[in-house]
Amino acid sequence: MGRPTWAEINLDALAHNLHVIRERAGAKVCVMAAVKANAYGHGAVECARRLEAEGTDWFGVALPEEGIELRRAGITRPILGLGGFWKGQEAACLEQRLTPVVYRLDMIESLDRAAREARAIADVHVKIDTGMGRLGVRADQVSEFAQSAKRFTNIRIDGLMTHLAAADDETKADFTNDQLLSFQNAVRIFRENGFAPKFIHAANSAATFAHARDGENLVRPGGTLYGFTRDVLPANVERPPLRPVMSLHSRIMLLKKVPRGEQLGYGCTFETKRDSLIATLPIGYDDGYRRALSNRGRVIVRGEFAPVVGRVSMDLTLVDVTEVAGASHNDEVILLGKAGKLSISAEEIGAMMKTISYEITCGISARVPRIYTSDQEGVM
Ligand SMILES: *Cc1c(COP(=O)(O)O)cnc(C)c1O
Repeated sequence: MGRPTWAEINLDALAHNLHVIRERAGAKVCVMAAVKANAYGHGAVECARRLEAEGTDWFGVALPEEGIELRRAGITRPILGLGGFWKGQEAACLEQRLTPVVYRLDMIESLDRAAREARAIADVHVKIDTGMGRLGVRADQVSEFAQSAKRFTNIRIDGLMTHLAAADDETKADFTNDQLLSFQNAVRIFRENGFAPKFIHAANSAATFAHARDGENLVRPGGTLYGFTRDVLPANVERPPLRPVMSLHSRIMLLKKVPRGEQLGYGCTFETKRDSLIATLPIGYDDGYRRALSNRGRVIVRGEFAPVVGRVSMDLTLVDVTEVAGASHNDEVILLGKAGKLSISAEEIGAMMKTISYEITCGISARVPRIYTSDQEGVM
């Protein structure tokens, strides 16, 4: 069995979230599940398999490498490479049926060449930068880009997309609406140039729940699939009934009585204010239980909160279980997740560290095994 530190990924919760999102998006809108970055730390292959079985239309990955991993695992639905591709990956994109996002003409050119050699037509989605300032053809260059793209005979521009910078912030609704208008204008320009893109998409999780879709027929949720709401959706949107998918667990490996007035951990940053019962946990910042949680985080043991005391170190963390009745060696500890009425969410841990839930689950390292569970059976 080894070290008792693990993340549980509840695939029934993931499936439930997909259905909540699908209902929200409406029957005519395709759902592209963002499973980049190992499905935000949840395990891309296992999550994609379940999502595919539940009827996800598309998958979104960041790198072609991530798409190839899904193909090798048997995923057959279309995969969009959100970050495009790098030189030398054109043939792999074609062979593995990955649809790359493109935002430079030379990408289309090199993919067109590879497609001609393979006697194939390569599908791409063109990304328009309507205000994010990151990837995409600038809105003021769309006309020129569309005209130049006409000459590539082995490319099919099958989708047009943009990405919203602040759909999660209702105070920036004007900015978001400007982005959407600019995108609609870009779509019109492509159509005027004779293109007939099938997929028109702009919405991440926040926009899926907070904004109307005008002419769009696909949404690209990520965070909401994994059950994040509080730092994903604008405050003025009613919370959909999403469920967290990941929980993080460990066990007490050593328990000791420590008299009042002793210092604990690196840097002696904590001093016991009373005779205390201190538990050592086999998890640390190398696992993604971040050092910023030193003297701040809390865990759940036997249905009670227990505070992190002293510095979180690389492999070990101390918690004060003085007030946990019956605390014992080998007790299960929940660092993220629910136990009875108590819960610790990724949003809450993120807020404590001035970041977002995404960075918390993405940060749970490969050293932590992912155990896939369901509602009925517990651990599968
Ligand atoms: C990651 C990503 C998404 C998903 O965003 P969420 O906020 O997690 O819903 C959508 N679109 C693009 C282009 C992305 O990179």
